[in-house]
Amino acid sequence: MIPAPTLANAWERGASLAAPDRAASLLGELDPTCDVGAMPVGQCDALLFEFRRGLFGDVLDAVARCPNCADQVSLQLDLAALQPPIADPPGEIQVRTGGYRISCRLPRNADLSALSRLGADVALQDIVGRCLIEARSDDGSPITAHELPDDVALAVVEAMAEADPASHVLLNIGCPCGATWTDQLDVRTVLWTELGAWVGELLQDVHHLAIAYRWSERDILDLSPWRRAWYLQALGW
Ligand SMILES: [Zn+2]
Repeated sequence: MIPAPTLANAWERGASLAAPDRAASLLGELDPTCDVGAMPVGQCDALLFEFRRGLFGDVLDAVARCPNCADQVSLQLDLAALQPPIADPPGEIQVRTGGYRISCRLPRNADLSALSRLGADVALQDIVGRCLIEARSDDGSPITAHELPDDVALAVVEAMAEADPASHVLLNIGCPCGATWTDQLDVRTVLWTELGAWVGELLQDVHHLAIAYRWSERDILDLSPWRRAWYLQALGW
């Protein structure tokens, strides 16, 4: 079990980063040997998925909006069943389509960070360009990612996603109105939001106990969750 101060510190340091980098940064905070930037997106997501299960359990209550009737659909997800495999993804993928041969690697966290800084106008060619090893037309001429037609760049991005299934955990959702659809579980947003709420509640507990007993933050955080709860209950919180 990760000590409460460690988790709170990891969350606080992550909060100072740009939003796309926050959840992934938790892995680096908790394991300094982990090179988060160089980690493929899906491998990182699979570890964050496992991390979420260890922290908060295998059940996730979620809601989705029906695209047909616009009602809110409540979901109770079994994360053990949805856990993507934590495996080494392929180092290189090759796509041959539309008169082009493209070799690229899978997107890494550092690529996500760089692409997020481009704002809303990220082109498919930007994604391919970050990961490109080599692209040639069928006559052997080298070309850049930004010279690829849209349909070819799309085929490359789709091949990347297919080679890295852990980067997109899909949910099959049904609504009482009869509609069914597929949505993606964003483990980074889920984990970051839940951990933020947990840290907020933890600091509220520290606040109450510090005022009542004049204990230091460190001493309060070093208490077991059971003892913190006991003292709070004794105070009527
Ligand atoms: Zn519906």
